Amino acid sequence: MNDCIFCRIIERKVPSMIVYEDEIALAFEDVNPQAPVHTLIIPKKHIPTVLDLKEADDHLIGHLFKIANKIARDKNIAERGFRLVTNCNAESGQTVYHIHLHLLGGRHMHWPPG
Ligand code: 5GP
Ligand code: ZN
Repeated sequence: MNDCIFCRIIERKVPSMIVYEDEIALAFEDVNPQAPVHTLIIPKKHIPTVLDLKEADDHLIGHLFKIANKIARDKNIAERGFRLVTNCNAESGQTVYHIHLHLLGGRHMHWPPG
């Protein structure tokens, strides 16, 4: 997807601070961090929203959570706590239509979220 910023990051056509990569996923630092730790975890496959997930993607979604688990431990926020967020469509605030997990941590998180 040429017009997708995250696909362009995967292809290294747009620079980013990559913290993890394997055959099916990539994790990189959010350009506009909302917490001391704000890492985005994405599948390499272009899937616009959660609503577009198919049964065949079950493994992929589990994999993204596994990577979040690893990064949270690596960044020493696992025990303190962290938040995983996936926005879907306009009212949630989704701005990039390539599914991603936000891994947020390093400060106290508020609830309910804004
Ligand atoms: P959303 O609003 O779709 O849930 O989250 C999109 C996230 O992607 C935002 O937190 C935004 O700061 C981040 N983002 C948008 N464009 C870029 C970019 O070019 N590079 C990086 N590293 N993050 C981006
Ligand atoms: Zn994409």
